[in-house]
Amino acid sequence: MERDVEQEARGRAARRDEAVRAAVEQGLLGPDTAVVGLLDVTGIRGSAAALKEAFDAVVAPGTPVLHAFAVKAAPLVPVLGLLHAEGIGAEVASAGELALARAAGVPPARTVLDSPAKTPAELREALALGIAVNADNPQELDRLDALVRAAPTGSPLGLRVNPQVGGGTIGATSTATRTSKFGVALRDEGAREWVVRAFLDRPWLTRLHTHTGSQGVPLSLMARGVARTYALAEEVNARAGRRQIDTLDLGGGLPVNFASEATTPTYAQYARLLAGEVPGLFDGRYGLVTEFGRSLLAKNGTVVARVEYTKSAGGRRIAVTHAGVQVAARTVYAPGAWPLRIAAYDAGGRPKTCPGTVQDVAGPACFSGDLLAEGRTLPLLEQGDYAAALDTGAYYFAHHYAYNSLARPGVHGFTVDGPGSVAFATVREPQTVAQVVAESGGAQASALIAPRAPGGADPSSRRVRRTGQLG
Ligand SMILES: *Cc1c(COP(=O)(O)O)cnc(C)c1O
Repeated sequence: MERDVEQEARGRAARRDEAVRAAVEQGLLGPDTAVVGLLDVTGIRGSAAALKEAFDAVVAPGTPVLHAFAVKAAPLVPVLGLLHAEGIGAEVASAGELALARAAGVPPARTVLDSPAKTPAELREALALGIAVNADNPQELDRLDALVRAAPTGSPLGLRVNPQVGGGTIGATSTATRTSKFGVALRDEGAREWVVRAFLDRPWLTRLHTHTGSQGVPLSLMARGVARTYALAEEVNARAGRRQIDTLDLGGGLPVNFASEATTPTYAQYARLLAGEVPGLFDGRYGLVTEFGRSLLAKNGTVVARVEYTKSAGGRRIAVTHAGVQVAARTVYAPGAWPLRIAAYDAGGRPKTCPGTVQDVAGPACFSGDLLAEGRTLPLLEQGDYAAALDTGAYYFAHHYAYNSLARPGVHGFTVDGPGSVAFATVREPQTVAQVVAESGGAQASALIAPRAPGGADPSSRRVRRTGQLG
């Protein structure tokens, strides 16, 4: 069933408005808690369902499909737990992300490891657990050779290729350019034949992985990358004379619409495009893995920050809020590529409806570029109001940047049971100032000025003794 994009958008906006007001009323937001992240649990469930429905509608019945959430988009254990409950696995790219997925109860069989810089220990752990691993490059394949020889593993093993289809509008999220750092660059001289041989020489290598891009990459380009990867799998299997490659792992995040409330493009559009462009992909001969991140969470998250002060400078009105670079690093450092919508709420958490005024929405950090929005026309923000940065459920409040030792805000999931009835669940406690000190070497306060420790119990003093350069 096709989802109604407009109705979905209205529902999401209405839930968000209820949640902001309830957060103020219930004291999750206020003078002493000046910034929070809010996650729409109903919205996340809806996004997960839309993803599953989109692929169910195009794959042959019985095709194994694992939708693995790219953990880097929202590395929060309760979020991974919710997605797991909704039938979504985990794509991890570090020991930390793997530990988060395991803490959330995502089983190894529903986890995929894809980092471009896996250490021998990480590979060993993944193979011991039976987690699927995609090798990034020939040197990593060498390591897998040794590990597979040393001990049997239940891990499905694959190879990542870069189909070199070109980039999108944002260089940093274009993963399939000619010189991208990821995977085996398929169109380089001799590379394709090398890949085919790599498979023929390794009967246990059964997957092909590609990730053609994220934000800013058009669907047509993603589809071209998938088509090239599919063609390569067909070639390998033809040369092997058997279905050696049994699973295609289609990384590639769907771009998110940051310009309006509507979810566009949809998973259904992308799945239909793939079905049209690469007809053999879904006929049941290949199992499928997907790795969506941003598109599952972005529109289901909101940063809400109190307006501490308002002022004007050079004729420009400025609202100084508590949300800046610490929760929106990408937007602050690359505002052209990552603009965010801002919604204005009054001191009671009700949407402001007064006519728009051109203003800057600034963050709390001590550099002049710390702006969530510049020259934006919004209802005039006043002291004690709240500014909400919308579509920030992925790569924003879950990606704290510790500038000015600003504390990580708390994150709360919400569900709306009816008008005025909102239930919150803590996803992440706010970081305390004591934690900021502890995580900034608070326990080593005199490490750089203390005399040499005679016992040498402290690891930093050991280094001092060995080099003899300090103290
Ligand atoms: C980041 C990443 C994804 C997810 O990208 P999004 O744009 O967040 O959807 C998927 N696969 C791999 C390999 C990635 O690195």
